[in-house]
Order: sequence, then C-alpha cells, then structure tokens
Amino acid sequence: MTFPRQPPLFDGPGDIRGLCRSMDWAATPLGPVRTWSATLRSTLALCLDSGFPILLNWGSDLVAVYNDAFTPLIGGKHPEALGRPAKEVWPESWDAVGARLDEVLVRGRTLRFTDERQILERNGYPEECYFTFSHSPIRDVDGTIVGLFTASTETTAQVVGERRMRILREVGGVSTTDGNTIADACRSALQVLARTPETVPFAVAYLAEGEDTELRQIAAYGLADAGDAAGSVSTGAGAVAVTEVIGRVIRTGRAESVGDLRNRFPGAFAPGPIGPLTPDEAVAVPFTVSGRSRPIGAALFGVNPYRRLNEEFQEFFAMLARQIRDTLTDVVAYEAERHRVEVLADLDRAKTEFFQNVSHELRTPLTLLLGPLQDLLARQRRQPAAGLSPAEWDSVETAVRAGQRLRGLVGDLLKVSGAETGGVFPDRRAVDLAEVTVGVAGMFRSWAEHAGLRFDIAVPDEQLTALVDPAMWSTIVTNLLSNAVKYTQLGAVTLTLAADEDEVMLTITDTGSGIPLADRRRVFDRFYRVTTSEPQEGSGIGLALVAELVAAHGGHIGLTSRPGMGSTFTVIIPVGDVPAGHETFGPTSAQHADPDLDRFAEQDIVTSPPLDTAAAGQVTTADPSAPRLLLVEDDDDLRAYLTRLIAADGWAVQDVPDAETALSVVAGRPHLPPDLVVTDVMLPGRSGLQLVTELRAAPSTARLPVIVLTALGGNEAAIQGFAAGADDYITKPFQSPELLARIRANHRLHQLREQAIGDAEDRAEQIRGALDSSRVIGTAIGILMAVHRLNSTDAFQLLLAASQNSNRKLRSLAADVVQSGTLPFRPTETDALLLRIARPR
Ligand code: ADP
Repeated sequence: MTFPRQPPLFDGPGDIRGLCRSMDWAATPLGPVRTWSATLRSTLALCLDSGFPILLNWGSDLVAVYNDAFTPLIGGKHPEALGRPAKEVWPESWDAVGARLDEVLVRGRTLRFTDERQILERNGYPEECYFTFSHSPIRDVDGTIVGLFTASTETTAQVVGERRMRILREVGGVSTTDGNTIADACRSALQVLARTPETVPFAVAYLAEGEDTELRQIAAYGLADAGDAAGSVSTGAGAVAVTEVIGRVIRTGRAESVGDLRNRFPGAFAPGPIGPLTPDEAVAVPFTVSGRSRPIGAALFGVNPYRRLNEEFQEFFAMLARQIRDTLTDVVAYEAERHRVEVLADLDRAKTEFFQNVSHELRTPLTLLLGPLQDLLARQRRQPAAGLSPAEWDSVETAVRAGQRLRGLVGDLLKVSGAETGGVFPDRRAVDLAEVTVGVAGMFRSWAEHAGLRFDIAVPDEQLTALVDPAMWSTIVTNLLSNAVKYTQLGAVTLTLAADEDEVMLTITDTGSGIPLADRRRVFDRFYRVTTSEPQEGSGIGLALVAELVAAHGGHIGLTSRPGMGSTFTVIIPVGDVPAGHETFGPTSAQHADPDLDRFAEQDIVTSPPLDTAAAGQVTTADPSAPRLLLVEDDDDLRAYLTRLIAADGWAVQDVPDAETALSVVAGRPHLPPDLVVTDVMLPGRSGLQLVTELRAAPSTARLPVIVLTALGGNEAAIQGFAAGADDYITKPFQSPELLARIRANHRLHQLREQAIGDAEDRAEQIRGALDSSRVIGTAIGILMAVHRLNSTDAFQLLLAASQNSNRKLRSLAADVVQSGTLPFRPTETDALLLRIARPR
C-alpha cells in the first residue's frame, strides 16, 4: 500500500492554516518556511492535521504553533500567540511553567498533568476550564531535543459534573435521624455545599416560622464578613431585596434567579475560591416537604462567577432543591415517627402494667384449678381400682398439662413485663458456664433425637468461669434450644460455647425453617411470631425474654438466618471480673420471683467423700441433716448438672448411672434409705419403671417418693410410670425451677403422708391400749361381783375406791384382781371399802 504524497505544508482547511499561510515567518525566530527542518515540517503537519488540541513549542525560544482545536485553550492570546516565544505568550506564568518545562527539555522526560485549572476568556467571560495534558520532547533525527509537544484534552465538563454530583450525593446523605430538626438538616446541607465553594460560593438559608411566616436566617456561608453574616445580607437596602425574593419564593414555591449582585449588594460576598471575582448571580430555591402545601423556607445559593448559569447549572439547582426536599421530608417523617413511638411506648407501659396485674390475677385461679386436679390424679394413683376410667384419666391429665403450661406462660409473662419495667436484676456469681450449659442442653438430647434430629454440643473441656446469673443463663439456653428443636423438621441442632478473656459466646444453629429477613429484628419483640404455613405452638415471649436477660448481663444477641436453610442465634456476654480464688457455683435454682428458692441459692456446694457402697456416685451436700435424694440418670453430663442443681437446693444428692446401682445403694443402707428418688425412664439394663416396681415391692422403700423423668412425647411412659407406682413425672426438657419445685412438693407430701401414717399408728396403739384396759377391768369387775356378791355398779365402785385408796392405777389394780382373784388388800381393808361403797345407799 502506498500513501499519497504530502500536499504543501499549509494547504488545506482551517483558520490556523490560513493564518500560517499569511504569516511572515521570516520575522519570527523560526525564520522563513523554506529554511525549516524536515522534523519541524513533519511535526507541524501532524499537529495541524490532528483534531485534538496540540501545541508545539519550537527551538530555544519555544516558539508557539498550535492547531485549530487548541485555540479555545489559549483563549484571548490567539492569534497573537502564533509564532511567538512562549515567554512572551505567557509572561504571567512563565516562571513556574518554564521551570517545569526544563524537566522535558533538559532531562527528556514526559510530564503529565490531570485536570489542571485554567481561567479562559473563550466565551466572553472568565471561565474555569480543566485540562489533562502531557508535555513530551520533540527530537531531531540525531536525537537532540528541538521542541516541546503538548497534547491535551479538556476535562471541564467532567470536573464540574463530578463536583456537582458529589454535592448532590452528600446532601442526600445528610442525617435525618434522631434529634435532627429541620433547621439541623438545613445547616448540614449548607455545610456540604460550603465544602465545595467552587460550585456554590455562598448560601443563606431561611425558615419561615409561625403563622405569620416570619423569616429566620438559620445558616449561611461565603459572606464577606463571617462575623456579621446575618447583617451583611439581612440589613440595609440589599436585605429588603433578599428577604423579598425569599418571601416570594416561599409564597409561589418557584425558584428564581437573582442577578447583578455586585451592584445590589456591594461587598456582601467573599471572593470565591477560584479567582478574585465575587459572585454576581444567585438562585433562590424554596424548601418544600412532601405532603405540605407550602414551602417551609428557602435559600439563596450563589452561582460560581467563573461559570454561566446555563441549563445544566439550573438543572443542578433543581436537583439540589429535590435532594433537600427529600431530606427535609425524611426529617419530618422521622419526627412524626418518633412522636408515634413515644405515644406507643406510653401505651406499651400501660399494657405492661396491665399484663403484670392480669398475670398476678391469673396465678391464683390457676393454682386453685391445678391443685384439685392434681389431687384427683394422686388419689387415682393410690387407688387405681376405684375412680377414673382411662379416658377420664387422660382428660384430667391433659387438663393438668395445659394448666401447667399456662402457669409457665404466666410466669414468663411476669418475667418479661418485669424486665420491661427495669425489674431484671441478675444475681451474678462465678459460674462454670460449660457445666451449666451442657447440663441444660443434655435435657434436650432425647427430645431432639426423638424428633429425628442430630444434636451436637461443642463446649470447651476446661472450666469456663463467668459472672452470670445461673438461672437466667439456663433460661437463655433453654429458650434458644427449644426454639431450634421446635422449628427444625430435618437435620441438626448444634450448640457451641466458646470464650476468650473478655467474652463468652454461645451459638445455637439449626437447619430448620429459618426466619425471613423482614421478621428477623422483630422476633425479639414481645408476642411477635412469624406467620408460617405450619403453625407451631408458641406465645412469642421466649426470644423477648432471652433478649432482656442477655441485655441485663450487658451482652447482646445476634441472629443470622436463611429461610428454608436454618438459623443461628449468637449470644455474647462479658465474662465479668471473676475474683481470683473464687468458688465456682454450679447451677442453682435461683429464681427471683420466689424467695423460697433464693434461700437455697445462697448455699455453698461442698463435696463429701463417696459412700461405702461400691459403684455409687458421690453424695453432694451442704449439711449432714439434709434430706437425701437418689438420682438415677445415665447421661453423664445431665447427671452432673442435675446433681449440682439439686444439691444447691439443699439436698444430699447421691447420683448413680443405672437402676442396678440404685438398688444396691438402697439395699446397702437399709437403715438410711433416701428420702426421694429421681430417675430417668430410659436407662441401660433395668428401666426406671422396673426400678419403681422393685422399690415399691420392698417394705422399707414401698412409700419412698419417686419422680420419673420422661422424654417429650413419652406420655405413654409417664402413664406406665404412674401405674408402676411413681409419684410424679416431669417431661424433658424442663426448667430447672420446675424440677426443684416438684422435688420439694413431693418430699413435703411424703413427709405429711408419713406423719399422717405415724399419727394414725399412735392412735391405733392408744385405742388398742384402751380396748385392752377395758377388757382387764371388765374381767376384774366380774370377779369382784362374784366374790363379794355385788352388782356391776357396786363392783366398779369398789374397784374405783380401792384404786383411790391405794393410789394405784385402775388398770393395774384390775390386772392384780384378774391374776389373784381378789383385791390385793388385807380383809379388814377390803371390808372398810365395802362399807364405804355401801354407805350411801
Ligand atoms: P414462640 O416460639 O413461643 O413463638 P419466641 O419468642 O421464642 O416465641 O420466637 C418468636 C418467633 O420467632 C417464633 O414464633 C418463630 O416464628 C421464630 N423463631 C424463633 N426461633 C426460631 C428458629 N430457631 N427457627 C425458626 N424460627 C424461629
């Protein structure tokens, strides 16, 4: 391929070519064209052909030659600049520019400048313009630098556009939340504008207040005298004009531009950051709020004097007005919302009070309802033959369970409402959280596995001591785990506990239904429940209570969830300052509503040496006179937990893993049987029910109270338990206070029963004695009637007189008479007595 030959240098279109053709080059340092080097010619041809702005500076004088595209950049200096040395073209900046160009001319480096500002008079006014350009050396064929090649692109639109976008973005980001008033938001918006005064060199904002819409200046910047900002604009002749415009803009709701500022407000505005010019134009913009018919204020925004207020600039002010409107609308909405929340909070307080009252009121009738029903069940247990049919038993059972659930709910309600009124005061103590957590979690294993779920617990092996309220911690773990199991159809529930020096983290993850994003924050609200196609039993209190208890410990709770995939609840609480050398408390029954329970919570736990019975667990107690409880549970963790829990309630607990060991413990100490037995139903070897049957068969333990622990859904087992003679059953998972309350209630019942039986035996003995006495006396009277020929009354009188006379008990005197056949007196004495009883007649 061959290119056409180059036409003569200045042939072709364009103003510059025309100028070049008519130019007397001989009068310039470049000399006549015919003397020009090939390099100059070809470089110049390249420059003139280019559509991009290009400037060449040739020779030691750096004579300027440029193309048509470059003329706007050189502004008013064109056309004189063509063919003149750079120093003469830019005398004002030559010192700085010249030094910079040495880098290129002496060192041969290319320099690049981005978005350099130049004020150019290319459109009849001084205009801020931005260019990105590079200076590179022009080399001759032998490599000597013979000139400077400057290629540039204008970036004015980009720089100015970005500047405006930034302002709009930042005004949109003005905080509209708590505590921010409309005036605050206006001030913040002006602060944003003040950070980029190139665009809006000054601003004054007013709010129209009150019925008579009096104007109040609330913020300003860019005024000549910052100390007297209000004065410079709002006093004097100019002031009237500004407030007039502002007033009009507020009335009409339409923006206006204001011109001739320099004449109308001489000295009012500070010179802008771009150059010495002060603003001459401004735009007055109304502040509107969606939903309000009338603007609530307005602002006067200065226009950058180095730009024209063209369509684009006006569009910017229109967008600014919209952005401010959105911000103010948000502030107004937020204020309204805050007011609504305050009203709701009042309502909520009233509701809480109501709940508290109602809950208290509910407790009494519930107790009255449950008491007789439970009595009915107890009676049925004692006398299965008489009384309820299986169907009736079932109904009463259902009623009792529903009643107990209701009582639990009422308790929870009281706890949350207490929490809301600032009533939760954790009783912090050094607790081994690993142990408590594993113990509580242990209760869920059978339930979870029964429901076909995998149940994993990962807890550090070593002690994990933290200052917490153990009862509250148990409630937290219980609620989260029971939700995890309840809302998971398939897969696994995993509990992990970890800690560093400062915090303990409990994580409970499930593969259940998950919680939609919209519900995630609200599930911690009281009574909030997620609407699902498969409704689950619940009240919506659990998580609210958990959140309160966690907060009461200075911790926080988090939730992540993927609907359909599962949920993870994370509880983080501070470890607290555990005192050195402290004693770690195991779980206690501390429940603050119940002073009876608190009493036990104060007790220390000590461990006494194991019993002599082989394979028996240790007896854990505070006190040798403490009632004795035998605990039969095969799950090691749960057994350890329950042991400490029950021991903390004042019991001497002996824990064993199976029924065989339990029976050998009882047999090994026939003189000191336990006062109560708590046994799991599912045990390796003999079941808990067989244990009950065998205990009932032995006379020494026939009446021993036994509570069986059954898995949820093990109703059948519970009924069998009752049939086998258990006194009570409790379904896992249970709340520790409930277990302790049942243990105490059964123990007390047992004591009362034993006392009643003891009293009955005493009375029987007395009656037996009385009967016996009357039989001996009767025989003696018969003898005396026969010996002394007396009627029965006289014979009795004789025996009585003899008893009084000899100062002996009637019965023992009678026994002598029966034995000897006569009164044990001399005949004279007997005659005297006979005379005495005969005399009255
Ligand atoms: P309740 O379970 O008695 O309804 P909660 O306060 O414990 O009350 O829980 C509130 C709601 O949060 C529940 O109704 C349930 O919709 C949802 N939720 C709680 N835990 C889970 C979980 N692990 N998986 C799925 N949903 C859950």
